[in-house]
Amino acid sequence: MSNNTSIHPDLDRTVASILEEAERNAKDLFAAIDKIAEVNQKKVIDAFRTCKVSARHFVPTTGYGYDDEGRDCLQRVFAEVFGAERAIVSPNLVSGTHTLTVALFGLLKTGDRMLCISGAPYDTLCKVISGVGNGSLADYGIGYDQIDLLADGTFDFDAIDRFLQKNKPKLVFLTRSRGYSWRNALSIEAIGQAVRFVKDRHPDCLVAVDNCYGEFVATQEPLAVGADIIIGSLIKNPGGGLAPTGGYIAGKADAVEQISYRLTSPSIGSEVGSYFAPYLPFYQGLFFAPNVVAGALKGSILAGFAFHTLGYDVSPVPAEMPGDIIRAIRFRTAEELIAYVQGVQYASPVDSYVTPEPWDMPGYQDPVIMAAGTFVQGASIELSADSPIKEPYIAYLQGGLTYQHCKIAVAECLKRILSNR
Ligand SMILES: *Cc1c(COP(=O)(O)O)cnc(C)c1O
Repeated sequence: MSNNTSIHPDLDRTVASILEEAERNAKDLFAAIDKIAEVNQKKVIDAFRTCKVSARHFVPTTGYGYDDEGRDCLQRVFAEVFGAERAIVSPNLVSGTHTLTVALFGLLKTGDRMLCISGAPYDTLCKVISGVGNGSLADYGIGYDQIDLLADGTFDFDAIDRFLQKNKPKLVFLTRSRGYSWRNALSIEAIGQAVRFVKDRHPDCLVAVDNCYGEFVATQEPLAVGADIIIGSLIKNPGGGLAPTGGYIAGKADAVEQISYRLTSPSIGSEVGSYFAPYLPFYQGLFFAPNVVAGALKGSILAGFAFHTLGYDVSPVPAEMPGDIIRAIRFRTAEELIAYVQGVQYASPVDSYVTPEPWDMPGYQDPVIMAAGTFVQGASIELSADSPIKEPYIAYLQGGLTYQHCKIAVAECLKRILSNR
């Protein structure tokens, strides 16, 4: 396949006109996204002012990190922005999975049960919950129950009601984002409705939300509608593309405190933890995050309209406001899917010259092909595409630090797919 634009003038014109039409169709959604970004940007600025963020918060620390002002202030800023009583924000949380694991182990003790009401949690959590012999929750005698979403992606309130009449789980867990599945992200309204439903029947229950990919997509976060804890990754939305690593946990003070004893040690909680690199990118990334998420959302919507025009099913449907920054596209063959992922890699700022191939990625059940030409390794707030290689051939597109980059990548993918038809 040639990528030389000059020898495909007709193809280039076709692609340009598909994208023009997509942008016309997306006009109203784009305007709504600009409004959301404005609200969220103000929340961030207000939090920075309230917490008196200053240059002294940006510097590295060493050793135990007692009175690490950069760490403490960053945690207060996140708590403010997300409407939490308290937050843990740490570069020592190595990934979203690690952050979720720390939160679950902090909140659950032997004999407790957790109930997941949005179907299976994210792939990498399955072994955390029910692995055998790997130090999973199950190994520690913590039980798990699951209620799937209905076919239309809404909560199965009848099943939840029946379950809660007989059982009193310590924790109800839900996943805001679609993850690797063909369902819409849960809206803030839907999360609020589920939280109320659960708490009406079982007031002592904690509700935790895997908030990955959902931050700043709407003007509210799940804590505003009654959730007790939200958990996410800093190399996704709230890191704004600048945070080099880390995770956050935010919510009710006593729940976050319980989790802090698991983060470090039952004797020291979150009084310790140094970082021998500047905290600057965490602050600056959070500052940029509302706008970065807006660009990624617009890119996702553009891709939705464009691939829909080519006749592929996309989820969410193109004209719908997305609830997370992931776009699922259903291709017809593994070859189309692979060509698409390779197109994203080709249009990336880093490692654009390499060709991704499927591989057995730790924590995932099927071979996965990933385009991740990112500055921060594996950062999916940066434009990236991944897909398990299995039928139906669904690719997931996410992120994009700028809308313009998303548009260039979508054009490249359209071209590759059209020229192979
Ligand atoms: C990315 C993600 C995770 C896990 O994060 P990693 O950083 O990849 O470990 C968990 N849940 C959801 C919904 C995610 O999107």
